[in-house]
Amino acid sequence: MTTDDINNIKQLLTTPKHIVIIPHKNPDGDAIGSTLGLYHYLIKQNHITTVIAPNDYPDFLKWMPKQDKIVIFESDRKNAEDLIQKANLIFTLDFNALHRTGDEMEAILTANKSTKIMIDHHQQPDDYAAFTYSDVSMSSTCEMVYNFIEMLGDKDKIDANIATCLYAGIMTDTGSFRFASTTSRTHHVVANLIDKGANSAAIHNAIFDTNSYERMQLLGCALSNLKVIPELRTAYITLSQEELNKFNFKKGDTEGFVNYGLSLDNVVFAVIFIEHKQEGIIKISLRSKGDFSVNEFSRAHFEGGGHTNAAGGKSDLNLNDTVEKFISILPSYKEALNL
Ligand code: 5GP
Ligand code: MN
Repeated sequence: MTTDDINNIKQLLTTPKHIVIIPHKNPDGDAIGSTLGLYHYLIKQNHITTVIAPNDYPDFLKWMPKQDKIVIFESDRKNAEDLIQKANLIFTLDFNALHRTGDEMEAILTANKSTKIMIDHHQQPDDYAAFTYSDVSMSSTCEMVYNFIEMLGDKDKIDANIATCLYAGIMTDTGSFRFASTTSRTHHVVANLIDKGANSAAIHNAIFDTNSYERMQLLGCALSNLKVIPELRTAYITLSQEELNKFNFKKGDTEGFVNYGLSLDNVVFAVIFIEHKQEGIIKISLRSKGDFSVNEFSRAHFEGGGHTNAAGGKSDLNLNDTVEKFISILPSYKEALNL
């Protein structure tokens, strides 16, 4: 983002606007934290602002300030479309291509000619926005929203609501400040957010210590399904629809499960395959340590992408065939996995 871009955006924001802020489909902590953080900043300046999420998000995020004001496109379609239609300014946060909002929202956003501003840290960003703030080295979109507010000269406007939302997203996207994307700058930003009123212990508690008993049982099931291929330094987990049903699966219940594979000594590549019978797909989450790029692996084989060390993807094959495909591909990555 150039100084000219910042000056132009500043100019745009001098008069009250109708603004919508949009995260990716299946929003995670960073997506909800960044959109709500920006929302609190914009409403403070009298912009008529709405966060529109493509679909619902997990219960462990349903405590953030004003999250109840989020409009869900999937279940409140007419309202969401009206708001997008009325918007002079559309922020798209935490994704790199409009298809990440889902087919229907993608069509609406592509047709909409209002000024778009992208803030995102995923690789290979599309060129759809008038202003693009893309930086793949960033820990999280929340850290970028902090930078964005700072670039606009408004760091002093960061209040406890903004700080709480941004803290939550940085914390979740960095795996509680442990992934390689966490820099000293990330810690400085987080320190400032605590000074502005983010309650670190309360946020960790709200996100991590609100598990249901059934989710813990589902984790037990996932861990007993965990398989390791030591010579390829790979671990993977499967969860069938039947297993999900048995433990009364709710959105977000499998969040973080993939990381257990990566916690094994000597494993650098971990994957979870989750069956979604209704959508007829297997949803795949991929994680790695070091230089092995799960973004490239997922782009090449599973219609997805993301970052070097964290990506998503999908497969139209059934669960068994998807795992078989995965296992048959792996040996061609033997060298990359044994670095
Ligand atoms: P998760 O496995 O938690 O769904 O996603 C891991 C990371 O990859 C997140 O940053 C997510 O936004 C990104 N991601 C997930 N699915 C896709 C996809 O289909 N395409 C791209 N480009 N990124 C994805
Ligand atoms: Mn993110």
